[in-house]
Amino acid sequence: MRITFLGTNGWYSTGTGNTICTLVDTGERYVLFDAGDGIRRLLDFAPDCSKPLDIFISHFHLDHIIGLHQLNRFNYPKIRIFVQPKGKKVIEFIVNSPFTDALQSLSNVGVFELALGKNRISDSLGSYTIDAEWLSHGDPCIGFRLEVANAGKKKAVAHCLDSGPCDAIKALSANADLLIAECGLVPEEEYDPAWPHMSPEIAAKLALEAKAKALALTHFAAHKYPALKDRKAACKAAKAIFSNTICASDGLALEI
Ligand SMILES: [Zn+2]
Ligand SMILES: [Zn+2]
Repeated sequence: MRITFLGTNGWYSTGTGNTICTLVDTGERYVLFDAGDGIRRLLDFAPDCSKPLDIFISHFHLDHIIGLHQLNRFNYPKIRIFVQPKGKKVIEFIVNSPFTDALQSLSNVGVFELALGKNRISDSLGSYTIDAEWLSHGDPCIGFRLEVANAGKKKAVAHCLDSGPCDAIKALSANADLLIAECGLVPEEEYDPAWPHMSPEIAAKLALEAKAKALALTHFAAHKYPALKDRKAACKAAKAIFSNTICASDGLALEI
């Protein structure tokens, strides 16, 4: 299973990175977590337009959904957008006139609400599971655990952002092959419950406690991480706690 970080900034795009978007190529299908500006490079890394695309949206802050206005660039046979409970009406409002082309005009696109807990996602190729739980953020936001059978082995990827530290992250990433977490705070920055994001140390502690096999840091706050070298400091701080930490940058790919 191949993970490619298409956009790794939080809040806004800069010369260092596009806003958040992460691609999982399961072999049979493409799965996308969030749809920030990074989606502009989707066809570079997901070129097989015979595969279906499932997009999971954590929440509706614009850095996570702004790329949805590019949906009409993509000719995958089926594009499904999965959102939090009661979230369908938000997508139907935003992906519509006068903001962009109307969703109804895109015959290959559908929007679906997830339930909390385990969701079985089925299509003509088979099925896989997505666990969804509320995280701790300023507006309602869900984290995911994707489980897919890949070449006879079950692989689990947790995607938990945006959020301050919470038990749901530990539950979703328990024994996962990879936890994808955020860096809204810089190393040693004190956690502020009024601005629920995580430092690299907090993310590393959660990965350790959850017994995840690897941690990928992404969603680096654009105003706090202006250059790639600033991300290296975050990675170093996280590695001191959880050694198998990867620092994402736009275009970075890894196999799990
Ligand atoms: Zn964000
Ligand atoms: Zn947010």
